[in-house]
This record gives sequence, structure tokens and C-alpha cells, in this order.
Amino acid sequence: MTKRVVLIGHPVAHSLSGAMHQAAFDAQGIDASYELWDRPAIELADAIGELRGDDFLGANVTIPHKERVVPLVDRLTEEAHATGAVNTITKEGKRLVGHNTDVPGFRVALDKLVGKQKMPRQAVLLGAGGGARAAVYGLITEGFQRVVVFNRHLHRAEGLVKHFGRSAAHMELRAMPWHESIIEAELAKTRVLVNATSIGLVDDESPIPAEIIPPELLVLDLIYNRTKLLRDAESAGCTVMDGELMLLHQGGAAFALWTGQPAPLELMQEKLAEARAGGVRSAEGEPAGEPVAVAAAGARADGAAPDGG
Ligand code: NDP
Repeated sequence: MTKRVVLIGHPVAHSLSGAMHQAAFDAQGIDASYELWDRPAIELADAIGELRGDDFLGANVTIPHKERVVPLVDRLTEEAHATGAVNTITKEGKRLVGHNTDVPGFRVALDKLVGKQKMPRQAVLLGAGGGARAAVYGLITEGFQRVVVFNRHLHRAEGLVKHFGRSAAHMELRAMPWHESIIEAELAKTRVLVNATSIGLVDDESPIPAEIIPPELLVLDLIYNRTKLLRDAESAGCTVMDGELMLLHQGGAAFALWTGQPAPLELMQEKLAEARAGGVRSAEGEPAGEPVAVAAAGARADGAAPDGG
């Protein structure tokens, strides 16, 4: 029986995950299909319930459901519990286990960005959604001592800080209002800047003006694209990285969890690059401009979406 893995989000038509996972299943001789399920919030509980069927190996969960899925699974791993967000589901019999592989994906990207230098201890984070939660937990577990979170809606950043409570008790995790002068002052005191907003995903915009980016920052944009922020930061003399490596490694970790086999990362990276060359710009389920085609619910990812899933 062909096993099924589904990506549940809304929308999902432009996700890059299908391209890398289907190729990985095929290359490893795993009889499985990766399907795109576009499900609005109202249908989420039913979709998660369906995963208990024997034909499912598991699932990915993406925008906007990562937090909503938490109470719908039977068990959470430490990372999913700590972040309050699930991006991967595996099975233990009929029981569903929620994981957050964005966290290890983020850590791989951060380690690569930092390179041979000593891991810094201060970071500024823009954004307070699911991606930001993975980044905060990654920073906490890498030993950061001060992380300042800016978000358009301050209450969401405050909620994030509150959520981390005990896991951040040994360090300073603060929410601050989105004012350019405050961001500028914080950037002057920090070594790492992480963009976890979706600004730059669809339009060529940056969350912050180029003038306030100091040289020699390490800048990680979770968006899988050479964004305006990254171009501005590079011009200012910073070291920069986009979200590709994080996407690849969250996918690699998910693949290993579903199949028990190491992920063919090189092939997955190739497939991501191909999908990107084919015009897919989204790291996640968000729309990348005008949809080329709407993937039918339940359609096999490599067949339904001309953009590569
Ligand atoms: P969410 O929808 O949960 O959060 C979006 C964030 O962007 C919020 O902080 C939101 O602020 C902010 N935002 C959106 N539009 C604006 C705007 N016009 N002005 C100011 N702030 C804005 O998304 P995720 O956290 O899941 O994803 C965020 C980004 O990270 C996406 O681009 C996604 O593709 C990327 N990502 C990449 C991953 C990878 O593997 N490379 C993994 C996970 C995410 P507010 O709360 O005020 O609305």
C-alpha cells in the first residue's frame, strides 16, 4: 500500500516542500506520496483526525495552523511543547506525535551563519509568529543571553515572551514596540539579526530601513529568497543568510522521522533549487504572488502543482 504524507496548510499551492519530499521518497525507494491539503481552520480537526488511518505515515503542518494543531495531537516532543508550534506529525500506531523540526533547521542555519566565530550571545528578532517561536527556542538552546523581539502587534511579541517563561528564566527575553529608533538602538548593541516576519516574501520590501543596519551584523532571514533586507545588510557589510538551509534541514529532519532513514539532503537541495528556478519563492505555505495553479486537495504534490508543489 502506498503510504501517504500530507502537507496541511492554507494555502499550500506554492509550498516548496512537495518538490523535495516526493523526490526523496522516490530516490530512497519508499512507496509514499506527498500530498498538498489546503484546509481552512474550520476543517483542521477533521484533517488531523484522518491521519490516524493506517495509510498515513504522517504530515507537515504549515501556515496558518502550526499553533492550532498543538491540542489536536496526542503527544508533543520537547521542541513542539517549548515552542507551542507543530510543523511535523508522526504516528505511534494510531496516536499522533507533534514535532517542531523548524527548531533544528534554524540551528543548522544559525551555526552555518556564525561559522568559526564564537557563538554570539545577543540577538534581535523581528516577528512573533510560528517561525519566530522556533527561532527563539533555537537561540535559547544555543546559549543566547539576551534576545529582543520586535513585532508589529506588540501583544503578540509579549505573548511569545510569556509563553517561553521558564525556558527563558536564565536569560533576558524581551518584547519591544516596533519603533525604528528603538530597533536601531538595539541593533547597535547586538551581533545577530533574525527576520521572522513575512515582509519581503511577496513584495520586495524590507522590515527595516537600510540606514539603521550597522556593519558586521550576522543577518538571517527565514524567507527563502535573497530579500531586500539581505541585500541591504550585505551592502552595509554584514554577513547574511536566507531561509533555504533552515527549510532544507527542517525537511530533512521530518523525512528521517517519518521513514527512519537519513534524508538525501543533496537531492532535496537540488529539488528546492529547481522549484525555485521554476518561480516558486515561498519557503512555506504562503502565496508567492499570483497563484499559477491551485493544487487540488489530496492531489499528489509532484503532479498537481506545476510550480513543483
Ligand atoms: P506567521 O503568519 O505566524 O507570522 C508572520 C509574522 O510577520 C508576524 O510577526 C507578523 O506580524 C509579521 N508581519 C506580516 N506582515 C507584516 C507587515 N506588513 N508589517 C509588519 N509585520 C508583518 O508566519 P510564520 O512565523 O510561520 O512565518 C514567517 C516567515 O518565516 C514567512 O515568510 C515564512 O515563509 C518564514 N519561515 C521560513 C521557514 C524556513 O524553513 N525557512 C520556517 C518557518 C517560517 P503581526 O503578528 O503583527 O501580524
